[in-house]
Amino acid sequence: MEILSKEKNARNCKFKTRHGEIETPFFMPVATKASVKHLSSIELETIGTPAIISNSLVLYLRPGLEVIEKFKGLHNFMKFHNVIFTDSGGFQMLRPAFLIDYNEQGINFKSPFDGKKFNFTPEKSMEVQEKIGADVVMCLDNLPEYGQDYESVKDAVKLTHAWADRCIKAHKDKKQLLFGITQGSVFPALRKKSIEFFNKKEVDGLALGGLCIGESKKKMFDSIKLHAKYLRKDKVRYLMGVGSPPDIVNSVNEGIDIFDSVFPTQNARHGNLFTSKGKLHILRKEFFKDESPIDENCSCYVCKNYSRAYIQYQLKFKEGVGYKLATYHNIHYITNLMKEIRLNIKENNFKKFRKEFLSNWVTKE
Ligand SMILES: [Zn+2]
Repeated sequence: MEILSKEKNARNCKFKTRHGEIETPFFMPVATKASVKHLSSIELETIGTPAIISNSLVLYLRPGLEVIEKFKGLHNFMKFHNVIFTDSGGFQMLRPAFLIDYNEQGINFKSPFDGKKFNFTPEKSMEVQEKIGADVVMCLDNLPEYGQDYESVKDAVKLTHAWADRCIKAHKDKKQLLFGITQGSVFPALRKKSIEFFNKKEVDGLALGGLCIGESKKKMFDSIKLHAKYLRKDKVRYLMGVGSPPDIVNSVNEGIDIFDSVFPTQNARHGNLFTSKGKLHILRKEFFKDESPIDENCSCYVCKNYSRAYIQYQLKFKEGVGYKLATYHNIHYITNLMKEIRLNIKENNFKKFRKEFLSNWVTKE
């Protein structure tokens, strides 16, 4: 990893993957089942999406490794040529819909698709992610739901660390990058312990896990700041689950390099569209006959061709085209926002950019 330019804590870095070099800060749309909802890989590449994140557990269950291996990996299966991350799926395995029980050895869960039972260990997770062929894979971690007490979170951190050691040992394909994930919920002492643990490990990047899952914005940013202060500076930093434009801009300001979230796609489906003036709720009455585009400052094909009235009509009646147009615009917006962030850090103008961005961002719902 190389830091190309810095402005205070905000960084513009680059790192090498099997699918080329990638510059930070960047945002990854979520492609759980090998697709970003309502967008094809070709559309993602047209937008200029540098990376996506898929879920190795979901792919393992359906369509199964047999299919993905036949295509020599996920890139070829879904025809996406840029960088692919996979998550371990630990988050899903530990939720009630999946979980049977877990212990130091691993996690026992049942597939919500057909009830079939599975045992996942750190070694198994590495094997699965290696076969899927992502460029960057994540350690299996133990992420408790938000609101657990100190002792439960402490146990989860201990398990996360023990599993990370086993993932590092089991990770064979050195061209595939491996990221560690810190845990510790909103308890600063536990977070610090987790940061210190991962700072000493042989991993290619460090992720901040277990944030943006119900805690207050203040607690989330306190934790991000703690990471910015104590995480080693020579590894890329990935904030998992954060995707609202103001949160991204503020997190970049604290030294975060990578983001992923369903926020832009989920919001699009609900008619919340990102514009240069903030979030616009397209389903509002005032747009019923509106001929103007979602955002006249946007260069995407949706804004060049379609009116607010048409998109409202399509979304209101749950037409596939409405979902596609709204999602395309939001992903285009966020990809462009990241480009602007990188450019402004390079030009040492990020402080001014952030101030203007935040004062322009108005949410009207
Ligand atoms: Zn647009």
